[in-house]
Amino acid sequence: MPLTVATLRNRAHPLSIAALSIAVILGLSPCTVKAQVPIPNVHQCVGFNYFTHQPMQVWQITGNDPAWAISNWNRVSGIPYTEYTQMYFALPPLMQKLTTYHECAHHSIPTGDEFLATCWALHQLRFSKSELAQIASFHQNYQGPVGPQYGGSGAALWAGVVAMCPADAT
Ligand SMILES: [Zn+2]
Repeated sequence: MPLTVATLRNRAHPLSIAALSIAVILGLSPCTVKAQVPIPNVHQCVGFNYFTHQPMQVWQITGNDPAWAISNWNRVSGIPYTEYTQMYFALPPLMQKLTTYHECAHHSIPTGDEFLATCWALHQLRFSKSELAQIASFHQNYQGPVGPQYGGSGAALWAGVVAMCPADAT
């Protein structure tokens, strides 16, 4: 599919529009922010080069943006990458697993739809009912900023996910 700035802007989770715009403008380089530490629960992922559209391994890196994780492409090489932040490292393990697969969905399907990305992740991960209840509770109680592309709140995000893929989310 044609990749546009509009789709790029949708690839953070969760994040303010302003911060994401800065990240996109800067074209964060995996060469300068490549992971120096192990990323917990990270899922290796195959995405596509932005320019050649050839399938390739997604670079899994760390960074400091105010989001759980951000997926984008290197502006020069076109290499797909997902950047994990301090917020990601602070998430419960179940939420880390969901987030890393959610980011993979952005690159692998690919899609800019935040609800679809989480539904794809849930379908891959096949959490137990107990785990899904914990994930639902985390979303519903989340008090951090949640952008409009996620429904504007953790509760709205989860409600939208359940509406899109009830078999995988409940
Ligand atoms: Zn996302």
